[in-house]
Amino acid sequence: MNNKGIVYLVGAGPGDTELLTLKGEKRLRNCEVLVYDRLANEDFLELIPSGCEKIYVGKVVGNHSWKQEDINEIIVKKALEGKRVVRLKGGDPFVFGRGGEEIISLKMAGIPYEVVPGITSAIAAATYAGIPVTHRGISRSFHVITGHTMEGEESVPDFKTLAQIEGTLIFLMGMGNLDTITKSLMDHGKNVSTPVALVSNGTTKEQKVVKGTLSTIVSIAEEEQVKAPAVIIIGDVVNLEMKNEKRDLLNNIRIGINGTKRFRDKLSKALEELDGEVSHLFGLEIEEYTDSELFFKEIDQLHHYTWLILTSSNGVEIFFEGIKKIGVDFRRLSHLKFAVIGEGTRETLLSYGFIPDYMPKVFTAGALGEGLKELLNCNDRVLIARAFNGSKLLTEILEQAHIDYTDLKLYHLREGTVTGKEQLKDINYITFGSSSGVETFFKHWTRKDLMNYPNLKLVSIGEVTSETLQRYGVESFLTAEEASIKSMVSCISGDVLKSR
Ligand code: SAH
Repeated sequence: MNNKGIVYLVGAGPGDTELLTLKGEKRLRNCEVLVYDRLANEDFLELIPSGCEKIYVGKVVGNHSWKQEDINEIIVKKALEGKRVVRLKGGDPFVFGRGGEEIISLKMAGIPYEVVPGITSAIAAATYAGIPVTHRGISRSFHVITGHTMEGEESVPDFKTLAQIEGTLIFLMGMGNLDTITKSLMDHGKNVSTPVALVSNGTTKEQKVVKGTLSTIVSIAEEEQVKAPAVIIIGDVVNLEMKNEKRDLLNNIRIGINGTKRFRDKLSKALEELDGEVSHLFGLEIEEYTDSELFFKEIDQLHHYTWLILTSSNGVEIFFEGIKKIGVDFRRLSHLKFAVIGEGTRETLLSYGFIPDYMPKVFTAGALGEGLKELLNCNDRVLIARAFNGSKLLTEILEQAHIDYTDLKLYHLREGTVTGKEQLKDINYITFGSSSGVETFFKHWTRKDLMNYPNLKLVSIGEVTSETLQRYGVESFLTAEEASIKSMVSCISGDVLKSR
């Protein structure tokens, strides 16, 4: 049978999305069915293609979780339908991940498969907590043990042997049995003052580390309310303090970011370069209108226009990809003059080989309109290709100047995944890159939520977004000097400097 699909068993890593391997990312980007359970990070879902079928096989509150046999069955079934299936698992698929059972089922059904290893939480959670699992002169080995099964002779770990091991002991799934684990080790002669660390939600924004000894850690865990998923690390390496020490301007500053993937990626990169920590609050997805009659009509009429106005990077990309898709030669644009709103848009336009003829000094729709008013006359015909709810200011100015224009709706930003509902408390700044971002935010949070966190500041990318914030009753917020990611970052760092 050559119409069988294939199953990729992919290790997602311990939580931090950037700890996914390049190969894992490749498989995710190319899959037709994704079978996943509770993920430490929903961002993985943004890597899969838009038409991909998602099958959640994790625990649902108040419901039974999926049985392993049913999971085996579903991946076999989907592969037999000829699909490219990714079975995504936390950490490494073979470290207490039951990946082996899934492979046995695939083998039995004669289905091709590939296992993509992942970074296991056993090591990564320790590393992010500043604990090296081995260290010359302190620990010459590390041992990863399940702490899940403590009943029945066969499933209880051999504590007698474990207590004698000099190396680092790392228990996964052990939080429910922390008491038994520590007691049994002490009962079998392990020194009661052996250092112990618990790392919960390792490598994620919620990572929490507590330290104690074999005799104290149980009460410390209770006091500090350490919850699963957590790794238990036992051994002298726990006393080493090797946590990342990056000290830059935005060190210890946490910024909530929202918007389209492109916007979030660019903004996080810029913030992380200054050591800022970013939290993803919600996404915006782009709905394109380039297969509409309206788009076809305007492209057909391009010779009528003298200027093409583009007001966002997304707009540039959607416009050019749209005309590529319908097979229009770019030379049909050669008579046009181009105007852009700002630096980001200009750069994206350059990447298509077009140099803008006009960009205002100040990156706002108003400045763009005023500038065009000076350059254009009533013989010009302008095509504005932009988002559905673009600023009215631009068109008002053109109207007043009697310049003929068409406002072509290229795309619409709609709500994507909302992730960080409880995260506001830890955030110092929330950034807004568009009015749609503000609107989505206030669908899920209220002004009262904001008032609960008096230290939280809102940052707007520019005029239009600021107006929308005001419309929602927000009185005080920061606005970037010019509507660009760079300027948003300077606005935040400037504010941090002031308050330090
Ligand atoms: N295959 C996974 C482990 C699955 S067993 C891996 O390689 O990481 C599930 C256990 O892993 C949890 O009970 C917890 O002990 C540990 N774990 C998973 N993710 C974790 C994280 N982000 N921080 C701390 N422990 C984690």
